[in-house]
Amino acid sequence: GSAPSGAGGTAADGRCPPVAEVVVDIVAPDVDRVFHFLVPPGLRDRLEVGHRVTVPFGPRRVEGTVVGFTEQPGVPPERLRPIAALRDPVPVLTPALIDLARWMEDRYLCLFVQALRAMLPPGARGDRVRLAPRRWVRLLLDPAEARHRAETLARRAPRQAAVLERLAQAAPAAVPQGPLLAAAGAGPEAVKALARKGWVAVEEREPEPDEPAAASEPAARPPALTPEQAAAWRRLEAALAAVLGDAAAGDAPPSGGGVAARRGRGTGPGAARGGPAPEPAAFLLHGVTGSGKTEIYLRAIAAALARGRGAICLVPEIALTPQTVARFRARFGSRVAVLHSAMTPAQRLATWRAIRAGRKPVVVGARSAVFAPVPNLGLIVVDEEHETSYKQEEAPRYHAREVALARARLEGAMVILGSATPAVETYHRALEGELGLLELGRRIGERPLPAVEIVDMRREFGLGHRALFSRRLVDLLRQRLAAGEQVLLFLNRRGYHTVLLCRECGFVLRCPHCDVTLTVHQLASGRRVCRCHYCDHRQVPPALCPRCGGVALHPFGLGTQKVEEAARRLFPGARIQRMDADVTARRGTHEAIYRRFAAGQIDILIGTQMIAKGWDVPGVTLVGVVSADTALHMPDFRRQERTFQLLEQVAGRAGRGPRRGLVLIQTYSPDHPCLQAVARHDYRAMYRLEAAERRELGFPPFGHLIRAVVAGPERAPVEQAASRLAAAWRRAVDEAAVPGARVTPAAPAPIERLRGRWRWHVLARAVDGAALRAATRAVMERLREAWPRDVQVQLDVDP
Ligand code: ADP
Ligand code: ZN
Repeated sequence: GSAPSGAGGTAADGRCPPVAEVVVDIVAPDVDRVFHFLVPPGLRDRLEVGHRVTVPFGPRRVEGTVVGFTEQPGVPPERLRPIAALRDPVPVLTPALIDLARWMEDRYLCLFVQALRAMLPPGARGDRVRLAPRRWVRLLLDPAEARHRAETLARRAPRQAAVLERLAQAAPAAVPQGPLLAAAGAGPEAVKALARKGWVAVEEREPEPDEPAAASEPAARPPALTPEQAAAWRRLEAALAAVLGDAAAGDAPPSGGGVAARRGRGTGPGAARGGPAPEPAAFLLHGVTGSGKTEIYLRAIAAALARGRGAICLVPEIALTPQTVARFRARFGSRVAVLHSAMTPAQRLATWRAIRAGRKPVVVGARSAVFAPVPNLGLIVVDEEHETSYKQEEAPRYHAREVALARARLEGAMVILGSATPAVETYHRALEGELGLLELGRRIGERPLPAVEIVDMRREFGLGHRALFSRRLVDLLRQRLAAGEQVLLFLNRRGYHTVLLCRECGFVLRCPHCDVTLTVHQLASGRRVCRCHYCDHRQVPPALCPRCGGVALHPFGLGTQKVEEAARRLFPGARIQRMDADVTARRGTHEAIYRRFAAGQIDILIGTQMIAKGWDVPGVTLVGVVSADTALHMPDFRRQERTFQLLEQVAGRAGRGPRRGLVLIQTYSPDHPCLQAVARHDYRAMYRLEAAERRELGFPPFGHLIRAVVAGPERAPVEQAASRLAAAWRRAVDEAAVPGARVTPAAPAPIERLRGRWRWHVLARAVDGAALRAATRAVMERLREAWPRDVQVQLDVDP
């Protein structure tokens, strides 16, 4: 939108004078702007927005990205220096992506260059991976003839001879020039000389992404939709037609430069305005696991392809399994590109280029695939949109779902967000009509959801043993083991936060100001203090429980190891395996354990989040949640949403075989409405709970939140700097009269020490996100001077 670049066009299309706007690859606030460079004559007909270039910068040369062209560089052109070199023949980024980077800069308070960097495939920067098309050398002679000529050349031109030898060995296949020359100990002039003689030919080839051995063409035929799916699909299909136009109209294959070309055509969400209330261009597909959401995604992608548009499907990294990929390939064959973190930079880059060139109009990948340079993008699907892995936890701290929505707006594309347990923010938007709401309530084949039973752990108190396992759980375990069935015992991620919990009545100590649980800290003196991570409220732990007056108020935290020991004591004959971050630190352990479990070689598997996702083991008939309390009492305003998501996901592991599954949840808060919602698989009940609380406290989606983390090697300067920041921030929102703004005092971050650094944080919230961001930007500008040198501030918008 507001891009001064007027993105699009080349330096040669007559409108643009030869001055390019370049953002250099230096992450520093004071150079985070556009610099002007002359376009040298040799590049005039080639340079485009999105090209990577090398430019002179002071005494150095640095890399950068062309983000536009201008007629008014602000300085006389003769004072400008020329671009030194073009780094690759094809622009890495599209003009639309550069617009998106500007949006990110504003939305996430990051640097423009950070946003651009997030979009570059690894290896596009620096020299480690070259983007240039690879040269291949092919022998034009018969191999025997080549060997003969190599012998006669050996004295006069030994390097040419060596090249010939190697080509003869490889014939009839061509050989990449780089490795060929390295092996022969020759330079490029040897190949040139041979080419002049007409003995070899040099071919330029696009590096191709690695394909599976049988890059089969589409075979799978889509199944007939169930009535529920069909109802959802009818609405989506209508919206696709409204947003992307008729299938017949745009039958051209996707091609580069599509965005610029399409701008005037009047498609996109805006085009539908004027008639009866149009469907939104973005949908939430809320459907339980196994309800056929993926089938809907596949249809929507096919519909986009039929209109000559490309599609991106984001899945959480952990879900990027061979099965998922196979499903896409079965439908779309070699048009599918897959982007995942296990790829080498070279593979990633090759894939990136194939996408950029329009050869792979369907992209499946994790978070950063939201930036895949698909030309003529028509659809973005975000599967499991509630997953925390979509949030990047380093600058730029973006959320792939939000970026997907913004990108779709910029490019006139559609969005489908899918989930069994949507984020409260997302569901709120759907209820507000910002997103179309499509619901699938039944599993394909009518397989029932598992039954959920809640065990009151308060009633296990005083039985003499410090019960980790209730009597009910022990009974069930015994039954399942006797029947040869498998059990999962689940614990929330080993908590770094320990809460104060009364074993007798279930009371948990909370902050009087923030409605989050207080965390117990052990001081150096051996004394304990309870602290709020949102406002730094502190108090001495009460000796007696404030609710029941009992003496059973103790710090509460559980580890998988403790549970494993207890299970071994109770069931000495059972095959028990623990799986947590400690165990799986070694590569491949995760898969090995999964294989053994799936083969029925483990009776009881004890684990954390890792076992909650995506595992499909039909032998599992019981899932025991050892303690729901650690999740329920996280010091996080999203704790109920997260608990619900986690437990639904865990529950999804039970009863995937012929027998209906049972989920047993142990807790000291059996009446907690969130657990009651889990027991009924009632998403809406959880939503209502969360919405009511968050509305009250002004948390998202009813307010905007920015978190500043201040970190440094010494504690005192960090604390001081954080306090200064908090004070300045509060002044700034007051001065700007940001409605409903609140800035907390500086407080230690939930993880106060991380990789040797002390961390404090400050939270600001307001109803008006844009006003809050503007005030925040102003504060950061002001504080940048006279800020302690080794103390850093990181901003996290909508943390
Ligand atoms: P979700 O993405 O909601 O978990 P899937 O799309 O993966 O659900 O569907 C679950 C299973 O049902 C898959 O094996 C899928 O192939 C199958 N399936 C989906 N839709 C249909 C349908 N209309 N008819 C028959 N099988 C279907
Ligand atoms: Zn507090």
